[in-house]
Amino acid sequence: MPEPAKDCVLDHKHKVLIMRCDGYDPDRIAGIIKEGMEELRVTPRGRILLKPNVVLAHPQIFPNAYTRGEFLDGVVAAVKSRAESVKEIAVGERSGITVPTRYNFKNAGYLEVIDKHGIKAYYFDESKHVPVQLKIPQAIRKTLYIPKPIKRCEFLINLPKFKAHPWCRLTLSLKNFIGLQDDRHRLIDHNQFLEHKIADLQEVIQPKFIAIDGIVAGQKMMLTPTPFLLGAIVMGTNSCAVDTVGCHMVRINPNDLTHLKYASQRGFGPMALDQIDVGGNYPLEEVQKRTENFKFCVERIDNYFSGTRNLSCTVGKFPEGHSLDYCRGGCPGALQEAIHIFRGFNPDVDKQMQKVRYVVGKVDGPLNLAKGERVIFAGNCTSWEGDIDGESVKIESSYKTADDVDAKKSSTNDMLLKTATAIVHSLLKRRSRYIHARGCPLSVAQHVNYLSAMAKIKNPNFDPRLLIPVNIAYWQMRFFRFLNRFIG
Ligand code: SF4
Repeated sequence: MPEPAKDCVLDHKHKVLIMRCDGYDPDRIAGIIKEGMEELRVTPRGRILLKPNVVLAHPQIFPNAYTRGEFLDGVVAAVKSRAESVKEIAVGERSGITVPTRYNFKNAGYLEVIDKHGIKAYYFDESKHVPVQLKIPQAIRKTLYIPKPIKRCEFLINLPKFKAHPWCRLTLSLKNFIGLQDDRHRLIDHNQFLEHKIADLQEVIQPKFIAIDGIVAGQKMMLTPTPFLLGAIVMGTNSCAVDTVGCHMVRINPNDLTHLKYASQRGFGPMALDQIDVGGNYPLEEVQKRTENFKFCVERIDNYFSGTRNLSCTVGKFPEGHSLDYCRGGCPGALQEAIHIFRGFNPDVDKQMQKVRYVVGKVDGPLNLAKGERVIFAGNCTSWEGDIDGESVKIESSYKTADDVDAKKSSTNDMLLKTATAIVHSLLKRRSRYIHARGCPLSVAQHVNYLSAMAKIKNPNFDPRLLIPVNIAYWQMRFFRFLNRFIG
Protein backbone atom coordinates (compact mmCIF):
# COMPACT_ATOMS: atom_id res chain seq x y z
CA MET A 1 0.00 0.00 0.00
CA PRO A 2 1.19 3.56 -0.64
CA GLU A 3 2.16 5.65 2.37
CA PRO A 4 -0.76 7.53 3.94
CA ALA A 5 -0.95 11.28 3.43
CA LYS A 6 0.16 13.61 6.19
CA ASP A 7 -2.28 14.40 9.02
CA CYS A 8 -5.01 16.83 8.13
CA VAL A 9 -4.76 20.34 9.47
CA LEU A 10 -8.03 22.01 10.40
CA ASP A 11 -8.78 25.69 10.31
CA HIS A 12 -11.92 25.27 12.43
CA LYS A 13 -13.26 22.85 14.98
CA HIS A 14 -15.97 20.42 13.95
CA LYS A 15 -18.81 20.32 16.43
CA VAL A 16 -20.22 17.05 17.78
CA LEU A 17 -23.24 16.88 20.07
CA ILE A 18 -24.01 14.11 22.54
CA MET A 19 -27.65 14.35 23.56
CA ARG A 20 -29.53 12.37 26.18
CA CYS A 21 -32.34 10.14 24.98
CA ASP A 22 -33.43 7.14 27.02
CA GLY A 23 -36.22 5.75 24.84
CA TYR A 24 -37.55 5.27 21.33
CA ASP A 25 -40.27 7.93 21.31
CA PRO A 26 -40.31 9.32 17.73
CA ASP A 27 -41.61 12.75 18.83
CA ARG A 28 -38.88 13.11 21.43
CA ILE A 29 -36.26 11.95 18.92
CA ALA A 30 -37.60 14.44 16.35
CA GLY A 31 -37.27 17.26 18.91
CA ILE A 32 -33.67 16.31 19.76
CA ILE A 33 -32.64 15.97 16.10
CA LYS A 34 -34.24 19.30 15.24
CA GLU A 35 -32.42 20.98 18.11
CA GLY A 36 -29.16 19.39 16.94
CA MET A 37 -29.68 20.50 13.34
CA GLU A 38 -30.34 24.06 14.50
CA GLU A 39 -27.19 24.13 16.62
CA LEU A 40 -25.10 22.61 13.84
CA ARG A 41 -26.76 24.92 11.29
CA VAL A 42 -27.87 22.05 9.10
CA THR A 43 -30.51 22.78 6.47
CA PRO A 44 -31.25 19.76 4.27
CA ARG A 45 -32.10 20.61 0.68
CA GLY A 46 -32.39 19.15 -2.80
CA ARG A 47 -32.29 15.37 -3.13
CA ILE A 48 -32.06 14.21 0.47
CA LEU A 49 -31.05 10.62 1.15
CA LEU A 50 -31.02 9.03 4.60
CA LYS A 51 -28.65 6.08 5.01
CA PRO A 52 -29.43 4.02 8.14
CA ASN A 53 -27.65 0.84 9.25
CA VAL A 54 -30.00 -2.08 8.60
CA VAL A 55 -27.42 -4.83 8.30
CA LEU A 56 -30.01 -7.33 9.55
CA ALA A 57 -33.38 -6.81 11.24
CA HIS A 58 -35.88 -9.06 12.93
CA PRO A 59 -37.85 -8.11 16.06
CA GLN A 60 -37.13 -11.45 17.79
CA ILE A 61 -33.98 -12.87 16.23
CA PHE A 62 -31.96 -9.74 15.38
CA PRO A 63 -33.55 -6.98 17.49
CA ASN A 64 -30.47 -4.83 18.20
CA ALA A 65 -28.48 -4.84 14.97
CA TYR A 66 -30.11 -1.90 13.20
CA THR A 67 -31.04 1.77 13.38
CA ARG A 68 -34.50 1.58 14.85
CA GLY A 69 -37.63 2.51 12.89
CA GLU A 70 -38.69 4.98 15.61
CA PHE A 71 -35.34 6.70 15.21
CA LEU A 72 -35.79 6.99 11.45
CA ASP A 73 -39.32 8.30 12.07
CA GLY A 74 -38.00 11.05 14.36
CA VAL A 75 -35.20 12.02 11.98
CA VAL A 76 -37.53 12.23 8.95
CA ALA A 77 -39.94 14.45 10.92
CA ALA A 78 -37.06 16.75 11.91
CA VAL A 79 -35.66 16.82 8.37
CA LYS A 80 -39.07 17.74 6.94
CA SER A 81 -39.42 20.57 9.40
CA ARG A 82 -35.95 22.01 8.57
CA ALA A 83 -35.56 21.24 4.88
CA GLU A 84 -35.73 23.80 2.06
CA SER A 85 -36.08 23.44 -1.71
CA VAL A 86 -36.70 19.71 -1.38
CA LYS A 87 -36.66 17.62 -4.56
CA GLU A 88 -36.91 14.26 -2.83
CA ILE A 89 -36.56 12.64 0.58
CA ALA A 90 -35.57 8.97 0.49
CA VAL A 91 -34.11 6.25 2.66
CA GLY A 92 -31.57 3.87 1.13
CA GLU A 93 -29.46 0.95 2.26
CA ARG A 94 -28.00 -2.44 1.33
CA SER A 95 -28.36 -4.95 4.15
CA GLY A 96 -25.73 -7.56 4.99
CA ILE A 97 -25.17 -11.29 4.41
CA THR A 98 -27.08 -11.21 1.09
CA VAL A 99 -30.51 -11.03 2.77
CA PRO A 100 -32.74 -8.76 0.60
CA THR A 101 -32.89 -5.23 1.98
CA ARG A 102 -36.66 -5.03 1.52
CA TYR A 103 -37.05 -7.95 3.96
CA ASN A 104 -35.05 -6.07 6.58
CA PHE A 105 -36.84 -2.75 5.97
CA LYS A 106 -40.12 -4.51 6.70
CA ASN A 107 -38.80 -6.05 9.91
CA ALA A 108 -37.21 -2.80 11.04
CA GLY A 109 -40.61 -1.06 10.80
CA TYR A 110 -39.36 1.22 8.01
CA LEU A 111 -42.28 0.62 5.63
CA GLU A 112 -44.70 2.30 8.06
CA VAL A 113 -42.33 5.27 8.43
CA ILE A 114 -41.91 5.54 4.64
CA ASP A 115 -45.70 5.46 4.18
CA LYS A 116 -46.39 7.88 7.04
CA HIS A 117 -44.02 10.54 5.67
CA GLY A 118 -44.63 9.88 1.97
CA ILE A 119 -40.92 9.37 1.27
CA LYS A 120 -39.15 6.99 -1.09
CA ALA A 121 -37.20 3.77 -0.44
CA TYR A 122 -34.09 2.77 -2.35
CA TYR A 123 -32.98 -0.81 -1.90
CA PHE A 124 -29.40 -0.63 -3.11
CA ASP A 125 -29.39 -4.34 -4.01
CA GLU A 126 -32.05 -3.44 -6.60
CA SER A 127 -30.45 -0.20 -7.81
CA LYS A 128 -28.20 0.19 -10.78
CA HIS A 129 -24.56 0.56 -9.67
CA VAL A 130 -22.34 3.05 -11.42
CA PRO A 131 -18.57 3.55 -11.37
CA VAL A 132 -16.93 6.38 -9.45
CA GLN A 133 -13.28 7.24 -9.98
CA LEU A 134 -11.15 7.72 -6.86
CA LYS A 135 -8.28 10.20 -6.87
CA ILE A 136 -6.70 9.59 -3.46
CA PRO A 137 -3.39 7.81 -4.12
CA GLN A 138 -3.78 5.50 -1.08
CA ALA A 139 -7.02 3.98 -2.45
CA ILE A 140 -6.79 0.24 -3.11
CA ARG A 141 -8.48 0.56 -6.49
CA LYS A 142 -9.13 3.45 -8.83
CA THR A 143 -12.83 2.69 -9.37
CA LEU A 144 -15.59 1.91 -6.90
CA TYR A 145 -19.15 0.95 -7.79
CA ILE A 146 -21.97 2.68 -5.95
CA PRO A 147 -25.76 2.79 -6.30
CA LYS A 148 -27.17 5.44 -8.61
CA PRO A 149 -29.29 7.08 -5.86
CA ILE A 150 -26.06 7.81 -3.96
CA LYS A 151 -24.48 9.36 -7.04
CA ARG A 152 -27.58 11.54 -7.58
CA CYS A 153 -28.06 12.52 -3.97
CA GLU A 154 -27.34 16.13 -2.98
CA PHE A 155 -27.70 15.86 0.78
CA LEU A 156 -26.67 12.63 2.46
CA ILE A 157 -27.75 12.03 6.05
CA ASN A 158 -25.90 9.18 7.72
CA LEU A 159 -27.85 7.34 10.44
CA PRO A 160 -25.58 4.63 11.91
CA LYS A 161 -26.32 2.38 14.84
CA PHE A 162 -23.84 2.66 17.72
CA LYS A 163 -22.33 -0.84 17.85
CA ALA A 164 -19.21 -2.73 18.74
CA HIS A 165 -17.75 -4.69 15.83
CA PRO A 166 -15.74 -7.92 16.01
CA TRP A 167 -13.59 -7.02 12.99
CA CYS A 168 -13.21 -3.25 13.27
CA ARG A 169 -13.88 -2.72 17.01
CA LEU A 170 -16.66 -0.14 16.44
CA THR A 171 -19.11 0.63 13.65
CA LEU A 172 -20.22 4.25 13.56
CA SER A 173 -20.38 6.81 10.74
CA LEU A 174 -17.41 5.80 8.56
CA LYS A 175 -18.08 2.05 8.71
CA ASN A 176 -21.76 2.54 7.82
CA PHE A 177 -20.64 3.20 4.23
CA ILE A 178 -20.04 -0.53 3.70
CA GLY A 179 -23.83 -0.67 3.23
CA LEU A 180 -23.59 1.50 0.11
CA GLN A 181 -22.51 -1.35 -2.12
CA ASP A 182 -24.47 -4.30 -3.48
CA ASP A 183 -23.40 -7.94 -2.95
CA ARG A 184 -21.32 -8.02 -6.11
CA HIS A 185 -19.03 -5.23 -4.87
CA ARG A 186 -19.40 -5.32 -1.09
CA LEU A 187 -17.19 -8.36 -0.54
CA ILE A 188 -14.37 -7.15 -2.77
CA ASP A 189 -11.48 -6.18 -0.42
CA HIS A 190 -13.61 -7.23 2.56
CA ASN A 191 -10.57 -9.11 3.82
CA GLN A 192 -7.23 -7.85 5.13
CA PHE A 193 -8.08 -4.60 3.31
CA LEU A 194 -11.42 -3.94 5.01
CA GLU A 195 -10.16 -0.91 6.92
CA HIS A 196 -8.63 0.51 3.72
CA LYS A 197 -11.90 -0.11 1.87
CA ILE A 198 -13.89 1.83 4.46
CA ALA A 199 -11.50 4.76 4.10
CA ASP A 200 -11.73 4.53 0.28
CA LEU A 201 -15.53 4.73 0.38
CA GLN A 202 -15.34 8.12 2.07
CA GLU A 203 -14.13 9.66 -1.18
CA VAL A 204 -17.36 8.68 -2.91
CA ILE A 205 -19.50 11.07 -0.87
CA GLN A 206 -19.45 12.87 2.46
CA PRO A 207 -22.54 13.06 4.69
CA LYS A 208 -23.79 16.55 5.44
CA PHE A 209 -25.40 15.47 8.69
CA ILE A 210 -24.85 12.45 10.92
CA ALA A 211 -27.12 11.23 13.72
CA ILE A 212 -26.16 8.01 15.50
CA ASP A 213 -28.80 5.84 17.13
CA GLY A 214 -27.02 5.25 20.44
CA ILE A 215 -30.20 4.92 22.49
CA VAL A 216 -29.76 1.16 22.78
CA ALA A 217 -26.22 0.47 21.62
CA GLY A 218 -24.85 -2.93 20.60
CA GLN A 219 -22.01 -4.75 22.33
CA LYS A 220 -19.61 -7.42 21.02
CA MET A 221 -21.09 -8.50 17.64
CA MET A 222 -22.57 -6.51 14.78
CA LEU A 223 -25.29 -8.93 13.61
CA THR A 224 -26.26 -10.27 17.02
CA PRO A 225 -25.15 -7.58 19.49
CA THR A 226 -25.94 -7.66 23.18
CA PRO A 227 -28.04 -4.55 23.95
CA PHE A 228 -26.59 -1.78 26.10
CA LEU A 229 -28.76 1.13 27.24
CA LEU A 230 -26.45 4.00 26.32
CA GLY A 231 -29.24 6.59 26.16
CA ALA A 232 -27.51 8.83 23.62
CA ILE A 233 -27.95 10.42 20.23
CA VAL A 234 -24.69 11.63 18.69
CA MET A 235 -24.83 14.30 15.99
CA GLY A 236 -22.32 16.08 13.82
CA THR A 237 -21.42 17.06 10.28
CA ASN A 238 -18.09 15.29 9.91
CA SER A 239 -17.70 11.50 10.07
CA CYS A 240 -14.16 11.48 11.50
CA ALA A 241 -15.13 13.93 14.24
CA VAL A 242 -18.28 11.97 15.14
CA ASP A 243 -16.40 8.66 15.18
CA THR A 244 -13.63 10.13 17.32
CA VAL A 245 -16.17 11.21 19.91
CA GLY A 246 -17.85 7.79 19.60
CA CYS A 247 -14.51 6.14 20.41
CA HIS A 248 -14.10 8.25 23.53
CA MET A 249 -17.65 7.48 24.62
CA VAL A 250 -16.64 3.84 25.04
CA ARG A 251 -13.03 4.58 25.99
CA ILE A 252 -11.41 3.39 22.77
CA ASN A 253 -8.27 5.11 21.57
CA PRO A 254 -9.22 6.56 18.12
CA ASN A 255 -5.83 5.32 16.86
CA ASP A 256 -7.14 1.78 17.38
CA LEU A 257 -10.04 2.41 15.00
CA THR A 258 -7.89 1.80 11.94
CA HIS A 259 -10.34 3.06 9.31
CA LEU A 260 -10.73 6.30 11.28
CA LYS A 261 -6.97 6.69 11.35
CA TYR A 262 -6.74 6.12 7.58
CA ALA A 263 -9.66 8.47 6.82
CA SER A 264 -8.21 11.19 9.02
CA GLN A 265 -4.74 10.78 7.51
CA ARG A 266 -6.34 11.25 4.09
CA GLY A 267 -7.77 14.58 5.21
CA PHE A 268 -11.41 13.65 5.83
CA GLY A 269 -11.47 15.09 9.35
CA PRO A 270 -9.92 15.14 12.82
CA MET A 271 -9.24 12.26 15.18
CA ALA A 272 -8.01 14.24 18.18
CA LEU A 273 -10.48 15.40 20.79
CA ASP A 274 -8.80 18.81 21.15
CA GLN A 275 -9.67 19.47 17.48
CA ILE A 276 -13.36 18.84 18.12
CA ASP A 277 -15.90 21.00 19.91
CA VAL A 278 -17.93 18.47 21.94
CA GLY A 279 -21.31 19.82 23.05
CA GLY A 280 -24.81 18.63 23.93
CA ASN A 281 -26.47 17.89 27.24
CA TYR A 282 -24.77 14.56 27.99
CA PRO A 283 -21.19 15.22 29.17
CA LEU A 284 -18.55 12.86 27.80
CA GLU A 285 -17.29 12.00 31.31
CA GLU A 286 -20.79 10.92 32.31
CA VAL A 287 -21.12 8.76 29.20
CA GLN A 288 -17.75 7.15 29.96
CA LYS A 289 -18.91 6.31 33.47
CA ARG A 290 -21.99 4.66 32.06
CA THR A 291 -19.97 2.61 29.56
CA GLU A 292 -17.43 1.25 32.06
CA ASN A 293 -18.76 -2.26 31.41
CA PHE A 294 -19.43 -1.87 27.68
CA LYS A 295 -18.16 -5.07 26.07
CA PHE A 296 -16.18 -5.69 22.88
CA CYS A 297 -15.25 -8.88 21.12
CA VAL A 298 -12.08 -8.37 19.14
CA GLU A 299 -10.32 -11.56 20.21
CA ARG A 300 -8.69 -13.84 17.67
CA ILE A 301 -10.85 -16.87 16.93
CA ASP A 302 -8.29 -19.38 18.24
CA ASN A 303 -8.55 -17.71 21.66
CA TYR A 304 -12.22 -16.89 21.45
CA PHE A 305 -13.33 -20.47 20.78
CA SER A 306 -10.66 -22.16 22.93
CA GLY A 307 -13.18 -22.74 25.74
CA THR A 308 -15.87 -24.28 23.54
CA ARG A 309 -16.33 -28.03 23.52
CA ASN A 310 -16.87 -28.82 19.86
CA LEU A 311 -15.28 -26.04 17.82
CA SER A 312 -11.58 -25.30 17.72
CA CYS A 313 -9.59 -23.14 15.35
CA THR A 314 -6.16 -23.41 13.81
CA VAL A 315 -5.00 -20.05 12.51
CA GLY A 316 -1.99 -19.78 10.22
CA LYS A 317 -0.29 -16.94 8.40
CA PHE A 318 -2.00 -14.55 6.00
CA PRO A 319 -0.87 -13.24 2.63
CA GLU A 320 -0.73 -9.47 3.03
CA GLY A 321 2.35 -7.88 4.58
CA HIS A 322 0.45 -5.32 6.69
CA SER A 323 -1.16 -8.10 8.77
CA LEU A 324 0.59 -11.43 8.35
CA ASP A 325 -0.64 -12.80 11.69
CA TYR A 326 -4.36 -12.31 11.30
CA CYS A 327 -7.05 -11.39 8.78
CA ARG A 328 -9.33 -9.04 10.67
CA GLY A 329 -11.69 -8.14 7.88
CA GLY A 330 -12.47 -11.57 6.49
CA CYS A 331 -13.09 -15.23 7.28
CA PRO A 332 -12.20 -15.36 11.02
CA GLY A 333 -14.66 -12.60 11.96
CA ALA A 334 -17.29 -14.12 9.69
CA LEU A 335 -16.95 -17.38 11.66
CA GLN A 336 -17.63 -15.52 14.92
CA GLU A 337 -20.70 -13.85 13.48
CA ALA A 338 -21.96 -17.16 12.07
CA ILE A 339 -21.64 -18.94 15.43
CA HIS A 340 -23.51 -16.13 17.14
CA ILE A 341 -26.30 -16.46 14.57
CA PHE A 342 -26.55 -20.19 15.38
CA ARG A 343 -26.64 -19.35 19.09
CA GLY A 344 -29.45 -16.85 18.45
CA PHE A 345 -31.56 -19.63 16.95
CA ASN A 346 -30.45 -22.37 19.32
CA PRO A 347 -28.71 -21.48 22.62
CA ASP A 348 -27.55 -25.12 23.00
CA VAL A 349 -25.83 -25.27 19.62
CA ASP A 350 -22.30 -25.38 21.11
CA LYS A 351 -23.19 -28.61 22.91
CA GLN A 352 -25.21 -30.10 20.07
CA MET A 353 -22.79 -29.54 17.20
CA GLN A 354 -20.40 -32.28 16.16
CA LYS A 355 -16.71 -31.66 16.54
CA VAL A 356 -15.32 -29.29 13.92
CA ARG A 357 -11.84 -27.91 13.38
CA TYR A 358 -11.77 -24.62 11.53
CA VAL A 359 -8.52 -24.03 9.67
CA VAL A 360 -7.70 -20.68 8.09
CA GLY A 361 -4.53 -19.17 6.64
CA LYS A 362 -1.29 -20.92 5.69
CA VAL A 363 -0.93 -23.67 8.25
CA ASP A 364 2.09 -25.96 8.63
CA GLY A 365 2.34 -29.16 10.61
CA PRO A 366 -0.15 -31.79 11.77
CA LEU A 367 -3.65 -30.81 12.85
CA ASN A 368 -3.84 -33.51 15.58
CA LEU A 369 -7.54 -34.05 15.01
CA ALA A 370 -9.71 -35.68 17.65
CA LYS A 371 -11.67 -38.84 16.82
CA GLY A 372 -14.48 -37.97 14.38
CA GLU A 373 -13.50 -34.30 14.23
CA ARG A 374 -14.25 -32.84 10.79
CA VAL A 375 -12.29 -30.01 9.20
CA ILE A 376 -13.41 -26.87 7.40
CA PHE A 377 -10.53 -25.31 5.48
CA ALA A 378 -11.93 -21.81 5.07
CA GLY A 379 -11.08 -19.20 2.49
CA ASN A 380 -8.98 -18.87 -0.65
CA CYS A 381 -5.74 -18.08 1.18
CA THR A 382 -5.81 -21.29 3.21
CA SER A 383 -3.23 -23.98 2.54
CA TRP A 384 -2.20 -27.15 4.34
CA GLU A 385 -0.59 -30.47 3.53
CA GLY A 386 -0.77 -33.64 5.58
CA ASP A 387 -2.64 -36.86 6.35
CA ILE A 388 -6.27 -37.21 7.37
CA ASP A 389 -7.41 -40.79 8.06
CA GLY A 390 -4.35 -42.07 6.26
CA GLU A 391 -5.27 -40.11 3.14
CA SER A 392 -2.78 -37.58 1.88
CA VAL A 393 -4.49 -34.18 1.67
CA LYS A 394 -3.22 -31.04 -0.04
CA ILE A 395 -5.16 -27.80 0.29
CA GLU A 396 -3.83 -25.11 -2.02
CA SER A 397 -4.17 -21.36 -1.80
CA SER A 398 -5.94 -19.58 -4.65
CA TYR A 399 -5.65 -16.15 -3.04
CA LYS A 400 -5.56 -13.19 -5.43
CA THR A 401 -3.99 -9.86 -4.53
CA ALA A 402 -6.16 -6.73 -4.73
CA ASP A 403 -4.51 -5.87 -8.06
CA ASP A 404 -5.49 -9.26 -9.48
CA VAL A 405 -9.16 -8.89 -8.52
CA ASP A 406 -11.13 -7.18 -11.27
CA ALA A 407 -14.22 -5.47 -9.80
CA LYS A 408 -15.89 -5.56 -13.23
CA LYS A 409 -15.71 -9.36 -13.29
CA SER A 410 -16.73 -10.00 -9.70
CA SER A 411 -19.28 -12.71 -8.93
CA THR A 412 -22.89 -11.79 -8.11
CA ASN A 413 -22.77 -13.34 -4.60
CA ASP A 414 -26.42 -14.15 -5.15
CA MET A 415 -28.12 -15.45 -2.01
CA LEU A 416 -29.82 -18.51 -3.54
CA LEU A 417 -26.88 -19.43 -5.74
CA LYS A 418 -24.44 -19.28 -2.82
CA THR A 419 -26.71 -21.28 -0.54
CA ALA A 420 -27.31 -23.92 -3.20
CA THR A 421 -23.58 -24.12 -4.04
CA ALA A 422 -22.60 -24.64 -0.40
CA ILE A 423 -25.32 -27.24 0.16
CA VAL A 424 -24.40 -29.22 -2.97
CA HIS A 425 -20.68 -28.99 -2.17
CA SER A 426 -21.31 -30.22 1.38
CA LEU A 427 -23.52 -33.06 0.10
CA LEU A 428 -20.82 -34.21 -2.30
CA LYS A 429 -18.31 -34.18 0.58
CA ARG A 430 -20.67 -35.70 3.14
CA ARG A 431 -18.50 -38.80 3.67
CA SER A 432 -15.28 -36.83 3.81
CA ARG A 433 -13.63 -35.65 7.02
CA TYR A 434 -12.78 -32.31 5.41
CA ILE A 435 -14.03 -29.65 3.02
CA HIS A 436 -12.38 -26.61 1.47
CA ALA A 437 -14.89 -23.75 1.42
CA ARG A 438 -13.59 -21.09 -0.91
CA GLY A 439 -14.08 -17.35 -0.95
CA CYS A 440 -12.15 -14.23 -0.03
CA PRO A 441 -13.81 -13.69 2.24
CA LEU A 442 -15.94 -16.75 2.85
CA SER A 443 -19.01 -14.75 3.79
CA VAL A 444 -21.01 -15.04 7.03
CA ALA A 445 -23.84 -16.66 5.05
CA GLN A 446 -21.45 -19.24 3.58
CA HIS A 447 -20.04 -19.96 7.03
CA VAL A 448 -23.56 -20.67 8.23
CA ASN A 449 -24.18 -23.13 5.38
CA TYR A 450 -20.87 -24.98 5.72
CA LEU A 451 -20.98 -25.14 9.51
CA SER A 452 -24.50 -26.46 9.41
CA ALA A 453 -23.46 -29.28 7.07
CA MET A 454 -20.14 -30.19 8.70
CA ALA A 455 -21.26 -29.87 12.34
CA LYS A 456 -24.69 -31.38 11.59
CA ILE A 457 -26.70 -28.54 13.08
CA LYS A 458 -29.94 -27.02 11.88
CA ASN A 459 -29.44 -24.41 9.17
CA PRO A 460 -31.12 -21.11 10.26
CA ASN A 461 -31.84 -20.39 6.59
CA PHE A 462 -34.58 -23.02 6.85
CA ASP A 463 -36.14 -21.58 10.00
CA PRO A 464 -39.84 -20.93 9.16
CA ARG A 465 -39.52 -17.34 10.43
CA LEU A 466 -37.02 -16.68 7.63
CA LEU A 467 -37.57 -19.21 4.87
CA ILE A 468 -40.77 -17.98 3.22
CA PRO A 469 -40.54 -14.20 3.84
CA VAL A 470 -36.86 -14.02 2.84
CA ASN A 471 -37.52 -15.96 -0.35
CA ILE A 472 -40.52 -13.81 -1.28
CA ALA A 473 -38.37 -10.71 -0.73
CA TYR A 474 -35.60 -12.33 -2.78
CA TRP A 475 -37.80 -12.80 -5.85
CA GLN A 476 -39.20 -9.27 -5.50
CA MET A 477 -35.64 -8.01 -5.31
CA ARG A 478 -34.69 -9.92 -8.47
CA PHE A 479 -37.74 -8.55 -10.32
CA PHE A 480 -37.12 -4.91 -9.37
CA ARG A 481 -33.39 -5.18 -9.98
CA PHE A 482 -34.20 -6.37 -13.49
CA LEU A 483 -36.61 -3.46 -14.04
CA ASN A 484 -34.09 -0.93 -12.70
CA ARG A 485 -31.60 -1.98 -15.36
CA PHE A 486 -33.81 -0.15 -17.85
CA ILE A 487 -34.80 2.85 -15.72
CA GLY A 488 -32.76 6.05 -15.62
S1 SF4 B 1 -9.43 -15.97 2.31
FE1 SF4 B 1 -10.38 -15.22 4.18
S2 SF4 B 1 -8.79 -15.25 5.73
FE2 SF4 B 1 -7.79 -15.42 3.73
S3 SF4 B 1 -7.25 -13.31 3.16
FE3 SF4 B 1 -9.25 -13.79 2.25
S4 SF4 B 1 -10.72 -13.06 3.76
FE4 SF4 B 1 -8.77 -13.22 4.81
